[in-house]
Amino acid sequence: MYDAVIIGAGITGTMIARDLSQYQLKIALIDKENDIADGATMANSAIVHTGYDPEDNTMKAKMNVRGARMYPQLCRDLGCRYTVVGAYIAACGKEEEEHLDVLKERAERREIPYAFLSGDEARKEEPNLNEQVTKVISFPTTAVIYPWEAAIACAQVAVNNGTELVLNAPVKSIEHHAGMYTVHTDKKDFETKIVINAAGVCADQIYRMVSEHPNFSMKPRKGEYYVIDNAVHYVKHVVFPVPSAKGKGVLAVPTVYGNTLIGPNSDYVPSTTDTGSTFQGLDYVKENASKIMKNVPLNRSIRNFAGLRPSSSSSDFIIEEAKDAENFINVASIESPGLASAPAIAEYVVQDLLKGKLDLKINEQAVMTRQRPLVMSELTPAEREAKIKENPMYGRIICRCEQISEGEIVDCIHAVCGARSVKGVKKRVRPGMGRCQGGFCEPRVVAILARELHESELDVVLDSQGSKILAKENR
Ligand SMILES: Cc1cc2nc3c(=O)[nH]c(=O)nc-3n(C[C@H](O)[C@H](O)[C@H](O)COP(=O)(O)OP(=O)(O)OC[C@H]3O[C@@H](n4cnc5c(N)ncnc54)[C@H](O)[C@@H]3O)c2cc1C
Repeated sequence: MYDAVIIGAGITGTMIARDLSQYQLKIALIDKENDIADGATMANSAIVHTGYDPEDNTMKAKMNVRGARMYPQLCRDLGCRYTVVGAYIAACGKEEEEHLDVLKERAERREIPYAFLSGDEARKEEPNLNEQVTKVISFPTTAVIYPWEAAIACAQVAVNNGTELVLNAPVKSIEHHAGMYTVHTDKKDFETKIVINAAGVCADQIYRMVSEHPNFSMKPRKGEYYVIDNAVHYVKHVVFPVPSAKGKGVLAVPTVYGNTLIGPNSDYVPSTTDTGSTFQGLDYVKENASKIMKNVPLNRSIRNFAGLRPSSSSSDFIIEEAKDAENFINVASIESPGLASAPAIAEYVVQDLLKGKLDLKINEQAVMTRQRPLVMSELTPAEREAKIKENPMYGRIICRCEQISEGEIVDCIHAVCGARSVKGVKKRVRPGMGRCQGGFCEPRVVAILARELHESELDVVLDSQGSKILAKENR
């Protein structure tokens, strides 16, 4: 019997799992995909917003402000990247400038640092802001992270503390009987006291398994991006237009590894799996990027991607025990700023919603931190030399664009919650993230995965189960 089963191993589910893993509880974290963080957590703008944008008296505002303040220490504890870049919200003309005052008032009420700059002052810092920009509000503590790195790190901590991680296990049905739940998957059935529904765009499907009258439905909202080569240093800050009812608009985001993201658009789509890029979406991004920016370097794009926001019929996060299903906790409608809010959402779920339901006795053996995996490019030349002497695999470069060694790839396969696919390796240590997008390194990553997992290269998958890359051997 489990104390709690968490459905969904995105940033929300993994942070909840990590928090729960400090107690003497039996927890399972399950996901339908072949890796952690393959949903919205994989494809977003990666910004830790400071919390000036959500409207007053919403869960979004409460969770965002608290979550953003938790991130710096959390990322230190997890050995994850956290880069403070600051954000500029750029107004064009009087009407938009008035909206900056609304953001300023929210920032003051929430004790978030801000400053105003004239268009010219802002252009000195960000020369690619265009001449239409008349005024900017700056939020200097805005940061960017590597979202899936944080999720994988949380899952690793949880698993080290005894949480059972079960991947490739789509939840098919849930039975509610005698105050307990049985969560059915093809792999295993889980009998549990508590169910935590953190299933992103599928959260309504999961809720419908226990409720005849669910109080929300999911409405996936697609966002598409261009990824710009990291040789182009386009912006220093996250640069936003003034937000509108449709969202935060088309931004330029400097990422933790030096690429720039340009996007996203915001389009409702009928499917929960439609993460394909479209001409229409990318054209929208192209046209709207030039609203506040110039010289947008789309000719240096190395990739496009799209993510689905877990938006719903509610304009706010839904973080509550279901009215019609005791001990069933919905953590749904976690659209932006869900990433920034995740540490606070986990804290709220555990400390406010679960405290009276579970015996939260500390597990003295639990370790809530994680050591940062070895990253050769972060070492000094002398440290690199010593590592290569210790293990020559750290000297064999597999990904030339990002300078990733064989040793780092092998490490990420054998780590707790290790990579099982080419994309899993890419998410953890970045071969394939560079300019050639895996053109050189992908066959070598396939060979390393096959060797380390003792399987045929023909069985190595790109991402999900069954996504085999090679059809047959012809040598
Ligand atoms: C385009 C875009 C831009 C964004 N930008 C930002 C930003 O800059 N800052 C910010 O704070 N937020 C941003 N967000 C929002 C942020 O990405 C999300 O709030 C966050 O990732 C949600 O995490 P989650 O864990 O709730 O959902 P997900 O990451 O989607 O995880 C849900 C998991 O549930 C699993 N699942 C679903 N159904 C089942 C089932 N039947 N059985 C088992 N498992 C199941 C899925 O496989 C998935 O892994 C953005 C989102 C998008 C799409």
